[in-house]
Parts: sequence; structure tokens; C-alpha cells
Amino acid sequence: MNPQNDLRRLPVKSLHGIGRVKESAYARLGIYSVYDLLYFFPRAYENRGNITLLRDYTPDVKNAVILTVATEPKVSLIRKGMSILKFNAFDDSGMCSITYFNQDYLKDKFHVGSTFRFWGKTEQKNGRYFMNSPAAEPYSENISLPPFVSVYRLTEGLSGKQISDNINSALSLAAEYLPDPLPPEIREENGLCTLHFALRQIHFPNGQEELAAAKKRLIFEEFFVFSLGMSLNIRNITADTDAPPCADTDITPLTSLLPYSLTDAQIRAIDSIASDMSKSRPMGRIVVGDVGCGKTVCAAAAMYIAVKNGRQAALMAPTEILANQHYNDLYPIFEKLNIRCALLTGSTTASQKNKIYSSLCSSDPLERTDIVIGTHALISDKVEFFAPGLIVTDEQHRFGVGQRAALSRKNNHSHMLVMSATPIPRSLALILYGDLDMSKIDTMPPGRQTVDTFLVDESYRARLDAFIRKQADAGSQVYIVCPAVEEKEAEDDEIALSEISLQSSFNYGSAPKKPPLKAAVKYASELQNRLKGYKIAFVHGKMSAKEKDGIMKSFAAGDIQILVSTTVIEVGVNVPNASLMIVENAERFGLSQLHQLRGRVGRGQKKSYCILVCGTKSKNELGENALRRLETMCRCHDGYQIAQEDLKLRGPGDFLANSGNDNIRQSGSVCFRIADMCRDTELLTRAFSCAKKFFASDPTLMSAPGLKLETESMFSLNSDIIS
Ligand code: ADP
Ligand code: MG
Repeated sequence: MNPQNDLRRLPVKSLHGIGRVKESAYARLGIYSVYDLLYFFPRAYENRGNITLLRDYTPDVKNAVILTVATEPKVSLIRKGMSILKFNAFDDSGMCSITYFNQDYLKDKFHVGSTFRFWGKTEQKNGRYFMNSPAAEPYSENISLPPFVSVYRLTEGLSGKQISDNINSALSLAAEYLPDPLPPEIREENGLCTLHFALRQIHFPNGQEELAAAKKRLIFEEFFVFSLGMSLNIRNITADTDAPPCADTDITPLTSLLPYSLTDAQIRAIDSIASDMSKSRPMGRIVVGDVGCGKTVCAAAAMYIAVKNGRQAALMAPTEILANQHYNDLYPIFEKLNIRCALLTGSTTASQKNKIYSSLCSSDPLERTDIVIGTHALISDKVEFFAPGLIVTDEQHRFGVGQRAALSRKNNHSHMLVMSATPIPRSLALILYGDLDMSKIDTMPPGRQTVDTFLVDESYRARLDAFIRKQADAGSQVYIVCPAVEEKEAEDDEIALSEISLQSSFNYGSAPKKPPLKAAVKYASELQNRLKGYKIAFVHGKMSAKEKDGIMKSFAAGDIQILVSTTVIEVGVNVPNASLMIVENAERFGLSQLHQLRGRVGRGQKKSYCILVCGTKSKNELGENALRRLETMCRCHDGYQIAQEDLKLRGPGDFLANSGNDNIRQSGSVCFRIADMCRDTELLTRAFSCAKKFFASDPTLMSAPGLKLETESMFSLNSDIIS
């Protein structure tokens, strides 16, 4: 066997004691090779090292006691199919009655006079102690039992003991055939133990300290390798490519057409963009800023600069509604500047599409489309630019690293600009956008107000209707967001995806039952019955793009007073006359998503409100976690603070989720075995900066073949995010 990759290929079956049955049990756990087994880390550890006397037991938690068997185990049948095995055992402080159910074979294990370390919950009645099905390990003075016992995720046909035994044999192979990928100087610099020590201690810790050292090393390595992979990938994309330098960066012709003046933060962002674009090194910049801070105009400025310098630009948005809106907002301005703009989405007709394709690659500047705005349709192979210059992706987190990479690889002679409204916590930003320079827009355009937010339950329904009336009568418009379209119906596009991420990642806390979902279609017709004479419409992802666009346009024009919708309106939609946002079944949404929804109102002069309606009869039925989340929304108006809170309460799944129609799995694609980017932020920062330095000194990873292999294999595992 030659070292390096071989344990990855060596099937678990080759270990002593694993036959066909166990092999398939391991397969159920996703373990195929010896290497997989070595990296199948315990999900918890039992601290059996604190031996107590029976007398000193702690109630309700498991205790470790050392007892000697006093009576022969007796088996009795208590009813059909249920037998019980019982015996007594003692220590210096008392006598304990021990019971096992349906494990008659244990009879031969507990001989009178033999001693065991028992681990289980202890109870006491009338001076006697009881333990129910405790774990038992033979004990003698001369062998020391490990203080920590690993707990593994189990499956039928595999016990924890068997897994431990198999891992033990895998570890002896590892000692011989698994080289440490981390170069010694990196280990020294960061105070990390060797791989072998780490693997042994993670499975069979000698103590708390050794376990901590093992974890530190393994977590560091994952982040380190991840960061190297990012750098490798970026190098592959941008290696030896350059982008057209755009020397003329005067944007006054554009800004003079705007009805407002730019904020300082916008000016700063645009200055950085202009300076990036004036160079031949491709720009890779992300503009982040809370909902409504005015990122679109930064994108417009960048596109204007590209076109001014004889190049073309593309703007990709995650939904058709948003693409349409950008087009409708930007088209009139660019038209005044004699810039030709086209809209390309999934529902553009085939003949229109063909026209756009050919005008994009036309060599005739009078024919050529300068700016194309669209959805994923822009990734199509048929989209080719005659003079590519700039690619902008809006609401980036919705696309995932993979789609961004796909788009920029296709256009590898372009500058790249990304805009994100999701306030991403720093650690996640490093992971998702580690390769991008960042501009933050940290101030809002003047005159923005905070949106007063309230949490109500069903008992407020009548008052809520009255409030809707009042707003509509005052000439304002109302959004009502429901989580589903028609009852019991699954959806097929971006909503379906957000539903999936809602349902799978949502933690209901102690809420007993999911409250029924409000369905947009039914809801709209019921509301119309209650609010006769008001102009109510609904929009959802199952409608054709044309229908959706029609409704959004008439809502923007003020022809619709109340718009019932699913989360299609979550990102980007901009109707300043809307002053009330009602979210039904608010407990179904992530905080950041609610923040996005709330950002749809408070965009104009009008005092605006957001009302979160919970699906339960009373707020108190929500469960503690859900209640806390929703109360956070009422209290907190800062996107970053909300994002942090959301991260704490729900984990990172939501930030990584994206609505790329074709790939739901992407949502979980940044998955680490042991590292946790929310918890291990300090190690993350250290590993990332260390990896950057390492990469700079050895961009092909030539000096560390083991590291190269790890990197490649991590990214072929996660190929959907990176290639
Ligand atoms: P987001 O950052 O969420 O994409 P938008 O770019 O959609 O925000 O901007 C939200 C609204 O703010 C739009 O109506 C836009 O016209 C307006 N806006 C942007 N910048 C300014 C500014 N400097 N002053 C006033 N209004 C602005
Ligand atoms: Mg936007």
C-alpha cells in the first residue's frame, strides 16, 4: 500500500470484524472507507471519569459508580416478548438493584464478585439504590478505564462499542499510512498537535485537555484547507486574466438624472468601484448594506462606467420580479443617456431572446445592447458579449458561491460586482466572500424612518382588518405575506425553496404543533369578503412571470391597495407608497427574512408599520424560542444585530441557502465535519489568515502534497459550491 490517498480508498470491510452486514450499516452512516471511519467523529462524550459513591449520586443525570456484583443475575418473563434481568451490586456506601430489559445474554457477564464501572441514572427508595440499564465496563485496579467515552451516531446493526473497536483498528492503520497534511511549521506557529494525536484523542480522549487540543487542531485544519481551496479556485478563475481598464469614471451625467443626491456611503462605494474598474486587474467587490440603503444606484454607476468605456455590463437578479423592477427603474435613466438596455429572463420569448443574444455579440456599436438585466437566464451558454466589461449580481447570497463562480468564469475578462442586503456576520462573510473586497453602505438615505413593529395573535384579527382599512383609506398601500400559496400544495420555484429552508431549518422550540399555514389564494378571497370595495390582489411564484409582473406594476402604480403574496416580494421590491407590512404565520420565517420583508415598507414619507401575526390562537402557544425570535424583531431594527441573533437561534443554514432553482442541496453545501463557523470564529480568522500567507508563498501547494490532496478532496466533495 502506498501512503497518501490510500485510506480513502480502502473499504471499511477490510478492517477486522466488518463483514457484509456491518459494511452496509456503515454505508447508512455515509462511511465507506477507512478514512471515512477515522473522520466519523463522536457526537458527544460521556464523562465517566468522575466516580462517585452510590450515596453521593446526583439525581436526574448519569453517574459513574464502581460496584461489585452481589447476587446471581435472575431472568424473569414479565409478559410475552418482555424479559427482565435483575441483580444486586454494592459499593462501600450501599446496595443497588440493577435491571436490564430483554438482554438475557448479559446473565453471563455479571458473575458474583466481579466489579464493573456502571454508568447510568441512579435513583433511591427506602435506603436502596436502583439503576436501569446502565452501561457496564469490567473494572479492576490494574487497568485504568478511559475517563471519556465517545458517543457515536448509531444505526441498526452497529453498537457504539463496535464502532469504537473498528475505529481503534483504523487508528493503527492511520499511524502508518496517513501522513499529516499540515506542514510542521504551520503546526508550530499555531500550537497545534499532530494529526495522529488529534485523531486518537478525538475518539479516545485521555482527558479534557487532550480533547481540546485535538479539536483545535482538526477545526483549524478544516478552515485552513477551506481557505486554501477558495484561493486555488479564485486563482483558477482569474489566473492570467485581465479585465478592461475603464479610465473614464465621471458619473455626473448619470447622477444629474437622479431625483436625489448620493449619500456619503454611496459616494465612497462608487469611488472604490471606479478605482477598481480603472485598473486591468479584475474587480472583485461586494457592496453590502441593509435593506433600502440604496445599493442599486451603485450598480447603475458601475454599469455606466463600463458602457462609457466601450464595454458591456450584465446585472443578474435572483427573481424575475426583481429583474423586472431593476429593468423598469434603470431603463428610463439609461435611455436618456443613449445606453441600450435589455431584459432577459426565463419568460422572455424565444424570438426576443434570440434578438438579445445576437445584439449582445454584435460588433456594430449601434446595434449592440450595452446592458442586459436578467435572472439565471444570463448564465446560458448563448449569452455572449462582444465587449464584456462588468458582471453585477444582486442579492448575492441567493445565488451561492457556485453560480457566482459560474458567471464569472464565463466572463473571465470582466470586472465583478456583488450586492448583498443580507447582513452577513463577519465569520460567514469570510467564508462566502473571502475573496472579495468589501464596501459597506452603513447609512440610510435621509428621511428614512424606523418601521414600528408589533407581534399579535389571532385575537387581534378584527382590529387588524380595521387597521388595514384605515391605511388604505389614507391612500397608503398594504402588503400581506403568507407562507404558502394554496393549502397543501407544494410549489415549484423560489418560494418552494424558501419553504423548504423554512421547514427544514426551523427550530420550533417547545411549540407543540405547527399552526396551520395561511394560504395566499384562499386568504385573498377571504379578505376580499371582509373588506368589500377595496382593491385586493394576490401574487405568488406559481403564476407566470407575465402575470406577476402585471400585478407588481399595477401595485407600483397604486391601482392595487392590498397585495397578498408569498415571499416573492422578499427581496428588493420597492414601492415607496406602501406603509403597512403584515406577515402571517410570522413564526415560519427566519429573522433575516422578516427583516427583508419589513424593509419593503418605510421607503417613502409615510409612517410605516410591520405587524407580525402568529399562527397560534395566542402568543403564549408559540413556544419560547419562536416568541423570543419574534420579540427580537419588534425591538430591533438593525439588520446586522438581527442577523447575529438569527445565527444564534437558527444556525447558519439560512445564510447559505439560496434559491438557485436547480440545486436545493447547495443550501447545506458549506459543511464542515467538526468546525462550526459560528462558534469557532477565532480559529477561523487565524486559519484563514495563515492560509492566505501560505498560499502566497506557495500558490500551487507544491511544498505540501498532503495539503493539496486534502484541499482537492474537500472541494470535490463540495464541488457544487466551488466549481
Ligand atoms: P437596496 O440597497 O435595498 O437595494 P435600493 O437601491 O432599492 O435599496 O434603494 C431603495 C430606495 O432608496 C429606492 O427608492 C432609491 O431610489 C432610494 N434611494 C437610493 N439612494 C438614495 C439617496 N441617496 N437619497 C434618497 N433616496 C435614495
Ligand atoms: Mg436591492
